[in-house]
Amino acid sequence: MAVQPHAHDHDSPDGLLSVEDARERVLSQVQVLSPLRLPLTDAHGCVVAEDIVAEEDLPEFASSAMDGFAVRASDVAGATPSRPVELKVVGRALIGHRPEGVVGAGEAMRIATGAPIPAGADVVVPIENAIAEGEDLVRLLDGPAMGTHVRPRGEDVRTDDVLVPGGKRLGAPELGLLANAGHATPLVHPRPRVVVLSTGDELVPPTDMPAFGQVHDANASMIFGALREAGAMPVLAGIVRDDVESLRETVFSFEIQADAFVSSGGVSVGERDVVKAAFFRRGEVDFYKVAMQPGMPQGFGHVEGKPYFGLPGNPVSVFVSVEVFVRPAILKMMGRRHLFRPEVSAKLTEEVRGPRGKLQFARVEVRREKSGWTATPTGARGSNLISTVARANGLAMIPAGTETASAGSPVQVMLFRSSED
Ligand code: AMP
Ligand code: MG
Repeated sequence: MAVQPHAHDHDSPDGLLSVEDARERVLSQVQVLSPLRLPLTDAHGCVVAEDIVAEEDLPEFASSAMDGFAVRASDVAGATPSRPVELKVVGRALIGHRPEGVVGAGEAMRIATGAPIPAGADVVVPIENAIAEGEDLVRLLDGPAMGTHVRPRGEDVRTDDVLVPGGKRLGAPELGLLANAGHATPLVHPRPRVVVLSTGDELVPPTDMPAFGQVHDANASMIFGALREAGAMPVLAGIVRDDVESLRETVFSFEIQADAFVSSGGVSVGERDVVKAAFFRRGEVDFYKVAMQPGMPQGFGHVEGKPYFGLPGNPVSVFVSVEVFVRPAILKMMGRRHLFRPEVSAKLTEEVRGPRGKLQFARVEVRREKSGWTATPTGARGSNLISTVARANGLAMIPAGTETASAGSPVQVMLFRSSED
């Protein structure tokens, strides 16, 4: 097959792809996962793949809203404490059972809250308005209108009503409704299983003591958290040495359980660009530079038919890359409709300087003041330190043309955590 050079954006004069183009390119190549039937507890948080329709009325039977006597409204019409109506007690309607017998004219049946209304009866007189005369007779002191204290069948949902429309995400209320309606295995888009790898000869797991020059693997844990927060199921594949064969072997060994891969490190322009060396195939897995800071070098494509994100190594770049590219793609795979973080327009409290010709994602702490939103940078310019992310709740986007955004000027900020956290 001829290699189709798809619009080579990275052939542009400065060799940079805009953030928007890069994101569009990723999103257009990622597909929604095929739906499956999952038990309700696993389906929680997933998007339903079809309208889920009621097969029965809910509730399925009329029941009593009170403890009392099920009777015919016509029999008790006009009853008062001074002019009670006396009826014959013909039995007891129990909760969880089909009532035996019928309530005829001049008759009453004892009934418990939630018990099905027996045939013939059309109203319940509460126990407070009844005086039992032994086992077989009751005097009723009130004559409520037909239907009083009866929860009608189909009051909640009618057969063929849409319980949950396709495209909606299953939250707690939807789980309750579906369970109530007996839909135990809704058809949903599953959570993607995303295999996470860290590349680098210098890396050791956070549990190990690093020797001089070694670095704790921060990225795997961070990506794990971000994927979990997006609703995916991350699978940690561990640290892979800067060796093409080990990387390929590790990736292929996880292929069967992966819906996507995310690796960090090894995509920049150096002799140890292990990810590039392992997977670069023009038009299939591409490596390119995006006009953003941080996060400029990126790789994306498909390995064994699964989306593969080759992120840069620096943890701040990883965080931003996950926010900008991976998270929206994962949400798309889950069938989610809103792929992007909420944004607010905020006023910078300090000057922020950015690189020329790149969109800068500055870590900021956003606050809501009386005068509106403010954004305070959590790190100095160009600081690529993970603590600046941990102190932030937003990424301020300083546009490519702006080298200096002065204090007091407005910026657009992507919020990556809610204010309650
Ligand atoms: P690379 O792109 O592989 O050259 O990595 C760029 C920088 O990020 C280097 O300083 C790496 O040590 C650092 N780095 C790469 N991967 C990780 C990781 N998983 N955790 C922490 N730092 C990393
Ligand atoms: Mg590396």
